[in-house]
Order: sequence, then structure tokens, then C-alpha cells
Amino acid sequence: MISVEEALAAILSHVQPLDPEQVPILDAQGRVLAEEIVSDIAVPPFDNSAMDGYAVQSAEVASATPESPVKLDVIDSVAAGSVAEKSVLPGTAIRIMTGAPMPEGADAVVPYEDTSDFDRPKDERLVTPADEIMVRSAVEARDHVRPAGEDIYVGERVLAPGRVIRAQEIGVLASLGHESVSVHRRPRVAILATGDELLEVHEPLQPGKIRNSNEYTNAALVRRTGGIPIRLGIARDTRSDLTNKIRSGLEAGADLFLTSGGVSVGDYDVVKDVLGSEGEMQFWQVRMKPGKPLAFGLLEGGVPLIGLPGNPVSAMVSFEQFARPAILRMLGHTNLAKPQVRAVLEESVTNSGRRGFVRVIVSQQGGRYHARTTGEQGSGVLTSMSKANGLAIVPEGTYQVEAGSEVVVQMLDWPEVIDL
Ligand code: AMP
Ligand code: MG
Repeated sequence: MISVEEALAAILSHVQPLDPEQVPILDAQGRVLAEEIVSDIAVPPFDNSAMDGYAVQSAEVASATPESPVKLDVIDSVAAGSVAEKSVLPGTAIRIMTGAPMPEGADAVVPYEDTSDFDRPKDERLVTPADEIMVRSAVEARDHVRPAGEDIYVGERVLAPGRVIRAQEIGVLASLGHESVSVHRRPRVAILATGDELLEVHEPLQPGKIRNSNEYTNAALVRRTGGIPIRLGIARDTRSDLTNKIRSGLEAGADLFLTSGGVSVGDYDVVKDVLGSEGEMQFWQVRMKPGKPLAFGLLEGGVPLIGLPGNPVSAMVSFEQFARPAILRMLGHTNLAKPQVRAVLEESVTNSGRRGFVRVIVSQQGGRYHARTTGEQGSGVLTSMSKANGLAIVPEGTYQVEAGSEVVVQMLDWPEVIDL
């Protein structure tokens, strides 16, 4: 049996970022950039006003105070989107709106608030623009001016490959004129449930049978992680059925297989066997609880197969430890770890000595995180996952963790986001 770290390292050694594809910038949200974005323009492209007011020569108003204002003739007006036709000369000013290009000759903007124009109601100002104003406050050169290139300069390396695209990156791409962008392709993840006992969701229960829930949990986890689930349905516990289903997944272009069940030591646990005959088994069994019976191997063409345990909780815990990082790497992510917090454990827990993952509810109390278990920890009790927002990690070799001790918790969801 190998450790969680060894198992993850072995899996990741067979997983690479997938090739890039070009997608519209809005579709790139959450994806990982596969190209370098170098700006061929300055942002903003020209010096412009940061305020509504008057473009002036700062030297002309150097002495202006409320008690002895400086009078200037207003010779023109410029709004955002247009360009002033005249130049600002000594003794003159041009009325200017936020975002409008600085007129020639001007080196600063006096905000409306610091001029006599501010005393007039806005409607009146619009209908009959002032032909002269009193400036009541001095400005220095470049005051209230946003210089060209303040945000981005020509030739700047703005976004490096590997950057995760969020709303702000989409905005930057838009301002640089990119309609689409190159990102790593999303992995196609084949999902296969195994078991003679499994029924489809719509089928009525029969003696000895249960409904196939893992396929749905796994598909949802794949989707949440950014992969594209390809649902292959249920394989019965025979070599031939499992082999056929795996082959159909390969034909569908799967980048990764996730099976569930069939990896224990029972008579009908065929996933290991088929993995051996259809590909190459890399390892089986990990020192963790839940989730010990995990299998990993490579199919034809090196396509990785993660054989998740059948028990619904074990399958989920194993997905988070092994399948999620694999999918994230295929997407181009380099940060593969689950977010973690330190929390005060509110009750004692016992552990097998293997790496333990305890379903907990994390809450914030007085600026600290606290964790209490969701109760019954059986690996078939999926509702205990439904009640949880985290997995408290119990180190290997530890058999008991006392109430009041600090534990590391892998967050499944944030208490600040989802109320449980
Ligand atoms: P196995 O490893 O195949 O023996 O499965 C372990 C346990 O998980 C058994 O109780 C199975 O019935 C259950 N199980 C396996 N596959 C699924 C599935 N797709 N949905 C729900 N439970 C499952
Ligand atoms: Mg089974």
C-alpha cells in the first residue's frame, strides 16, 4: 500500500496540460491561458481627463484661491469620445468631461467643484455653457490627468501563460482588442459505474439492487472541476462488458477514465483485472480511510484510468484527492491543492492509523474556524457528505485526535458561501 502523496505523484506523472484551443473571451472564464498576451497598444491610448471640469495651463492658475480666483475664457468643450478642435492658450480653458482626451496646450484639469461653474445648476450649465469661469483653486501639472499608458504600456507582457482567466482578465483582454484567446482544452472524462447491483435512476427498486448514484456524483464533480463528463453508463461485473465500455470510451476520445466500484477484493471486482489486460496497472490501494481500494493504470495510448472505490463517500473523497488534481493539471492549472484551513476540532475522533478524512462542518466563530463531525462516518452514508463542507485530515499513524486540538481541514465549500 502506498501513501496519498505517492499515489498522487504517480497519477500526476502521467498527466499533462492538454493542447490549446481558441475560445471567445467570455467562454475563457475559469480556463487557463495557453499563450502570452503582449500589448500592442497603450491603455489608455491617450492622456485623458480623470474629472469633469476645465482643461487649463497649470501655470495660469497657480495663484488661484477661493478669495482671489483666476478668470479664464472658455473657448471650447470636449466630451468623452471626441477631440477638442482648439488648443488651450494662456488665459483660456476648455470644458472637459471624464475620459475625454486632453486638449493641446493644457497640462491639468480643474474639477467643476473648484470653479464658479459649480454654483450653477447642472441643467443650466448644459443649456448655456459658461463663456468664462473663475478658478478657485490651483492645480499642478498632470493633476486630474490620466496619462497614456498609465495602465498598460506598448509592448508590456500583460498576461503570462498559466494565468487563470477571471472577470478582470476578460476585461483586460477586451481592452486590448482580443475577441478570443488561447486556453488549454477541457478534458473529456469518461465516467463508468460498475456493478451487477446497479439500477438506473428511473428504475423502480428491486430486491438486492440499489440505484447508481456514483455516476451522477462523479459527473457533477467533473463538471465542477472544469472537465467534460462523458457518461458511459453502467458496466456489469463481467470482463467482457467492462472491456467493451472502456473501448467505447476510448473511441469517444476520453482523456481520462473514472470508474467506480470493482476495485475491492471480492469475486466480482473486475476493474483491476480489465485494467491489467486492457492496459497497464500502476498501483492499487492507498493508505487512507475512506478510499483504500483505489486503482490506477494506463489504457491504450497512455489514457489514465482512476478506479475509484464503489462506496459513495469513498468515491467522493478519492475524487477530491486524485481525480480533481489530475483534471486541473489537464486544464493547465498549476495550483492543484484543495483550499485548506486550520480549525479547532470540537469533539474527539478516532482514526485507523491510515490517513483519515473526516467529514466535518466548518463554521467561523470569533474569527477562528471550528469543525464538528457530521456524525455517522460510514463510507456508504452519502448524506454525511451532504451535511459536510470540509474533510478534516488526520495524519497517518494517529489513532485519536482530542477535542480542542487544531486540525487541517480541506474545504469542499466555504461556510461564508454555503449555509449548512
Ligand atoms: P464494490 O467496490 O464494487 O464492491 O462496491 C462497494 C460498495 O459500493 C457496494 O456496496 C456497492 O453497492 C456500492 N456501489 C458501487 N457502485 C455504486 C454506484 N455506482 N452507486 C452507488 N453505490 C455503488
Ligand atoms: Mg461492485
